[in-house]
Amino acid sequence: MEHIAGLIIPGGESSVIDKLSRLYGLAEPIRSAIAAGLPVYGTCAGLIMLADTILDAIEGQQSFGGLDVVVRRNAFGSQTESFETSLSVPELGDEPVNAVFIRAPVVESMGPQVRALATLDDGRVVAVEQGRLMGTSFHPEITGDTRFHEYFVARVRSSN
Ligand code: GLN
Repeated sequence: MEHIAGLIIPGGESSVIDKLSRLYGLAEPIRSAIAAGLPVYGTCAGLIMLADTILDAIEGQQSFGGLDVVVRRNAFGSQTESFETSLSVPELGDEPVNAVFIRAPVVESMGPQVRALATLDDGRVVAVEQGRLMGTSFHPEITGDTRFHEYFVARVRSSN
């Protein structure tokens, strides 16, 4: 942890990431690194791990926190309710992002420092940034579109 310039927390299962990171003693170092300004990008479960507040968490589930948002886990239903949609993300240019949602969370509310990067047609927020932290409900890592990652890497570079 002392030698990294940025961290990407991928999708998966936030309750498991939480348990394992505590079991292996990584949760506190990650919390401290976030507090010290480490750039972190969380996708899906990773966004849940960055959220200060989780709704529909399992009992005792904790996050690393840092992002002043309330996220709801599994906001679109079960695995079979997974979907892809075309999202406008002005920060990444005119070309829409093909966003893949797999048992994805949504951002239900956010604090004044948080900026929405993308919303669904119904207005629900699915991509956010706050300082050196960013999170997406969906998985840009599986579509071959590297723009979100480039956006994050630029943030890492500018903060070092
Ligand atoms: N539903 C999962 C969770 O609660 C996230 C799913 C994902 O990362 N694709 O962590």
